[in-house]
Amino acid sequence: MDAFHEWGVETVVGMCSSQVGKTSIALNMVAYHIAHDPCPILVVQPTTKPMAEDFSKNRLDPLIRATPILSKAVGERRSRDASNTVYSKTFNGGSVSITGAGSASSLAARPVRFLLLDEIDRFPPELPGEGSTIEIALARTKAFGRQRQVAMFSSPTFVGQPIHVWFEEGDQRRFYVPCPSCGEMNPYRWENVRWEDSDSSTAQLHCPGCDYGMDDAERVQMLQHGEWVAENPDREDETIVSFHLSELYSPFSDLQRIVKRFLKARKAQKAGDNSKMHTFQNTTLGEPIELEAGEGVDPDPLLLRREDYGECDVPAGACLLTMGVDVQDDRLELLVIGWGPGKESWLVLRDLLPGDPDGPEVWELLDDVLAHEFLHQSGARLPISATFIDSAGHRTDAVYEYCHRKATRLVFASIGRAGVLPIIKTPSMPHKRSMGGRKCLLYTVGVDAAKSQFVSSLKIDEPGPGYVHIPNSEWADDELVAQLASERLVTRWSKGRPVSAWVKVRARNEMLDCAVLNLAALRRLNPDLELLAQRLKNPEAVPVKKKRTDGRKPFLGRRRGGWLQKGGAHRR
Ligand SMILES: [Zn+2]
Repeated sequence: MDAFHEWGVETVVGMCSSQVGKTSIALNMVAYHIAHDPCPILVVQPTTKPMAEDFSKNRLDPLIRATPILSKAVGERRSRDASNTVYSKTFNGGSVSITGAGSASSLAARPVRFLLLDEIDRFPPELPGEGSTIEIALARTKAFGRQRQVAMFSSPTFVGQPIHVWFEEGDQRRFYVPCPSCGEMNPYRWENVRWEDSDSSTAQLHCPGCDYGMDDAERVQMLQHGEWVAENPDREDETIVSFHLSELYSPFSDLQRIVKRFLKARKAQKAGDNSKMHTFQNTTLGEPIELEAGEGVDPDPLLLRREDYGECDVPAGACLLTMGVDVQDDRLELLVIGWGPGKESWLVLRDLLPGDPDGPEVWELLDDVLAHEFLHQSGARLPISATFIDSAGHRTDAVYEYCHRKATRLVFASIGRAGVLPIIKTPSMPHKRSMGGRKCLLYTVGVDAAKSQFVSSLKIDEPGPGYVHIPNSEWADDELVAQLASERLVTRWSKGRPVSAWVKVRARNEMLDCAVLNLAALRRLNPDLELLAQRLKNPEAVPVKKKRTDGRKPFLGRRRGGWLQKGGAHRR
């Protein structure tokens, strides 16, 4: 709470266990602003019902009722009084809105000066067509510039998830407490808790300096002599301060109970159930879970296996090109992949096109890429046969507009969805309104399925079906392979069932997203790669077939089987 009054601080991050008063801090912050520093306030909880409602009715309302200065400011809640409802309260000089993170309309309304994001690791990461939930909420504070205040609290989940990322960006303060025996200052750490023979009643917290064992009373008593120490004072962004606090500091808890919980979790873990240990780590220690290796792909071997494509852009094995385009606020990132029989693939081009996608320049650069014909080893020229552009999040309308214009080049807008979904689903038409009456197809890409397929391909280590070839090019650097290997499949326990999901282990992953879009584009074309490969080898011997050979119905009834002839395999 004090940190907001330090010079230059805009964002305060708390990565905490339960039982350390997160909610009280949040309430105090809101109360302070109502009473002493009125301004527009937004409180975001993971859900509207029950969490935002509960925060308002069962936490904030009682606090306001019991505190004269607050109840005077906010006033009694009367029926039909629009100025004081469950989700919105106005007072002299400001207002407080309380909403769920899934509600795009309330997240993106008026500007706010004080923004409180509670339990951010439980927010939906993206809102359909709007982008990162946290970014949408943060955008509301921009109008207030350096006057803004943002508080983020959460118990952590996994390494690389929001609260952990924000904690790392901040100055990483931990609470150092002196040892009652030698006076050395140390944070309370789980590795210094020891007990005898599975007997939790013998638990003590030891000093790493002199090994003195504190009992529970001393543990709580010494807290008043402690102080916050920033372990990362030389951070890049000095407006962010971050705090870590575990249940080991909680005066409401005791060591015995914590050790008991650990012993239970360890027993379950030995029986093959990791969920209790994960919960212990997250909600008792306040630490994110480090993902085990093996659930994703290791980037280093990918770098070592790069190969020389020779003089051509596209080696002999590939016979069809697709492109995936990731849209950011200031650039497009793209990846072109060549496909051969057995879905063996070759990375052909990675590029970054600078420019704001709201303006025309960056799209003109993309036009150039689309117009380019890549030199195949046979001497043929291959154009890009299909392109998927991610329209979720950034500059959605500009993406629709471009896809509308380039529909005949099979350029499609898409949004990624997690969960049990096929790589592409039947497309829908996005709203016409925002595009001056024009329409374009919008595909839903099942990102989990696509990532699973692509990451298994990366794991194949011998050329042949499924193998991913990486060239010895300048752009195929360690950043590229790190991005391709940027996510891991983790299994979490949800309502007693294991649920697998891909999670980021590093902040940037544009190339993996682009690879996913390439897979979607390939799926959209559903080409006969064997036939295309033969045609490329010997254009005269293999006749151009007008009908699809696999006997399945095309995705779109109206599709005229034209792309094979129009598209790739002409020798010039
Ligand atoms: Zn000591």
